[in-house]
Amino acid sequence: MSKVSRRRFLYTASATAAGAIALKGCTAGPNANQSPAASPQAGGAPAVNVGGGEGPETTTVRIGYIPIFESTPLIIAQEKGFFAKYGMTDVSVVKQAAWGALRDNLVIGSQGGGIDGAQFQMPMPYLIHEGKITTANQKIPMYVLLQTSTQGNGIAIAGKHAGKNIHLDLTRAKPYFDQLKAAGTPFTAAYTFPAVNQELWIRYWLAAGGIDPDEDVKLIAVPPPQTVANMKTGTMDGFSTGDPWPYRIVQENIGFMAALTAQMWPNHPEEYFGMRADWADQHPKATKALLKGIMEAQQWCDQPENRTEVIQILSGRQYFNLSEEILTPPMKGEYNLGDGQPAINDIKMGPLFWKDAKGSVSYPYKSHDTWFLTENIRWGMLPPETDVKALVDTVNREDIWKEAAKEAGIPDADIPTETTRGVERFFDGITFDANDPMAYLRSLKIKKVNV
Ligand code: CA
Repeated sequence: MSKVSRRRFLYTASATAAGAIALKGCTAGPNANQSPAASPQAGGAPAVNVGGGEGPETTTVRIGYIPIFESTPLIIAQEKGFFAKYGMTDVSVVKQAAWGALRDNLVIGSQGGGIDGAQFQMPMPYLIHEGKITTANQKIPMYVLLQTSTQGNGIAIAGKHAGKNIHLDLTRAKPYFDQLKAAGTPFTAAYTFPAVNQELWIRYWLAAGGIDPDEDVKLIAVPPPQTVANMKTGTMDGFSTGDPWPYRIVQENIGFMAALTAQMWPNHPEEYFGMRADWADQHPKATKALLKGIMEAQQWCDQPENRTEVIQILSGRQYFNLSEEILTPPMKGEYNLGDGQPAINDIKMGPLFWKDAKGSVSYPYKSHDTWFLTENIRWGMLPPETDVKALVDTVNREDIWKEAAKEAGIPDADIPTETTRGVERFFDGITFDANDPMAYLRSLKIKKVNV
């Protein structure tokens, strides 16, 4: 019987493979380049606590973000006064220099000058919770509370590889990848932080095309703002990151986009809002007030007529510090992929914040957390014995999301009643059912886990 044929991932603290992800790769020190956002603009709604009885336990909290579209609801909640509307009048939305810095600031907490919660790639909160990516394997109990957005990511390729069939389906490009490897110059691609979304997207895409991400290419970690620079200097052949960075490659004529993640997995889960469990436990009302503010921002962001203002706010110097011209096409789902591929012009192919074709964006489905953890097991980033279900039941707090949504008066139709979104289907025909992750792992040809 193989180690994982028990159909159950029993978590064990003896993390062998997982030790490999305790990386210092793209870390800056704590507080590095943290730049507090400006105070909320005047004109927000009055500071009343809407729903939930008396006011929050505190009005002060520090939330970290990375300047990619996934952070949009956090920034909009601040700028449009939605946090203040629910009584959170002293929220700091703090830019982080890199994912490593975000993690380090979360570990020290606001009392140490860091942050209490943040935007996260998945399963980053789980890896922090389990001490897999923290210094000295320190475990910081975490909660996953809300999904900030679906889709809105892509894989960008350097222009020198145009005409080699490096598109969504890589099977026809396999000989070219083999040729690069044989020449001693393997295709080198970057993601933004190990073992989470961007590495998982590029690995999925490569493996679906028959290219082994551990044998046939070289994968490295590079923070999002450095991706464009590295592509220009030719030290990188491709990268996987959040909008607007991949599309900048097309706009600046440096390369093209091989695929949108929305093509790889339509309406796929992307990034989340999570908090230190100690902060949320000490401030349950404030936690729900934050969620209500973010939910209201998500609904506001998804109104197409508000996207122009979203772009104006994000482009600000204290936020993305990028021109509106750069932000507009990907925020509106307008992608000129390049390299002879048909252009995409559909807001539903870009980042979505409140609803998508599968239902709620904001709701943190346990089935999605299960996929991210299963994918970590697939690539040897978590031990196969990991008890995924127990871990998800501890870290995922969909119950808090539901309470906040009900208190905020969200219609019942927009509050999921199931903890799974159902069977998920990828572009290569593979399916994932959170009730049977082993069947998914068995169905994959390229993987590091022995199932
Ligand atoms: Ca992302």
